[in-house]
Amino acid sequence: MAHIEIPAEIRPVDGRFGCGPSKVRDEQVSFLASLQPTVLGTSHRQASVKNLVNSVQEQLRDLFRAPEGYEIVLGNGGATSFWDAAVHSLIKEKGQFATCGEFSSKFAAAAKKAPWLADPAVIKGEPGTLAQNVDASDVDIFAYAHNETSTGVMSPIRRYGKDGQLTVVDATSAAGGIDFDAANVDVYYFSPQKNFASDGGIWFALMSPAAIARIAEIDGTDRYIPDTLNLQTAVNNSRLQQTLNTPAIAPLALMDEQLRWILSQGGLEWASERTKHSSQLLYTWAAERSFATPFVADADARSQVVATIDFNADVDASAISKALRANGIVDTEPYRKLGRNQLRIATFTAIDPADVEKLIACIDYVVERLD
Ligand SMILES: *Cc1c(COP(=O)(O)O)cnc(C)c1O
Repeated sequence: MAHIEIPAEIRPVDGRFGCGPSKVRDEQVSFLASLQPTVLGTSHRQASVKNLVNSVQEQLRDLFRAPEGYEIVLGNGGATSFWDAAVHSLIKEKGQFATCGEFSSKFAAAAKKAPWLADPAVIKGEPGTLAQNVDASDVDIFAYAHNETSTGVMSPIRRYGKDGQLTVVDATSAAGGIDFDAANVDVYYFSPQKNFASDGGIWFALMSPAAIARIAEIDGTDRYIPDTLNLQTAVNNSRLQQTLNTPAIAPLALMDEQLRWILSQGGLEWASERTKHSSQLLYTWAAERSFATPFVADADARSQVVATIDFNADVDASAISKALRANGIVDTEPYRKLGRNQLRIATFTAIDPADVEKLIACIDYVVERLD
């Protein structure tokens, strides 16, 4: 393929459109650098690091307008580790999982592997569609993803079941970019390398009093729970602004600064309007072009933070991604296992809508010049 040189004046200021890790803002990196030498390289059991953890927790509570009694719990390992922790520490006997792509399926798969749990109830949707839970009395958690990152499908946030049953939401690619009512969830967990523009390796969870009580209840049984996967240990440590073992400081610092920025701009409502606007630019453009179509047919289920755009068979989407990459515009490839002729573009909070407009111009420019 011949190299396509995109003119500098139509290129985005920042070329990072990946769905995680995703664009990190310069101000976050400056803030991280400012922690040298007072926080970086100092003990995580002392005030300087604990104050940083506290600041992240307080800002998250503000951002989510956390209802009375809700707590921010954190631990090392990211959302994938949280699934294993939840299998040990949050599911009593059986969970119900709405799955419609790679990430929502992985939590269900983790629960299925656990010999101490009953086989999960799985409500499966085809990739590109939304699967939703249904009320049922024989499960103790209802699990779904706020945003299925592999396909760009977004779910309404609602509570299922009744008292004694928990609604557990994977918010990894949604948190900080989509507005919601925290009173409708018991656990809203995420890694910070998506809308929070931070680094991976850590998980955060907004937890309701009912979720915290469930964790204590399971901890009081004779079930064996490894320390690193015990959510009671995470709750206890989080209340002391600590983690069981040493945390990485960079993700906390990048997260802290991103939270300050989002809150100063107007909080979750502002972030949600911004991501809605950015994603609409892409969906509107795709609808107008004869060679492109939004992958998610149901407009209400189209994600405002991860836009997936299919291309007609005569336009090779992977050639577009490659040409963009050669011009410094990166990570527009589709989710690897989805295998579609598609571009997947993050419209996370950190990504400037003006850069999304420029990206669209660049895609048009490349398509006109493909062989
Ligand atoms: C990225 C992602 C994960 C995995 O996060 P890790 O930090 O890699 O464990 C889980 N769920 C969703 C919805 C995601 O987007």
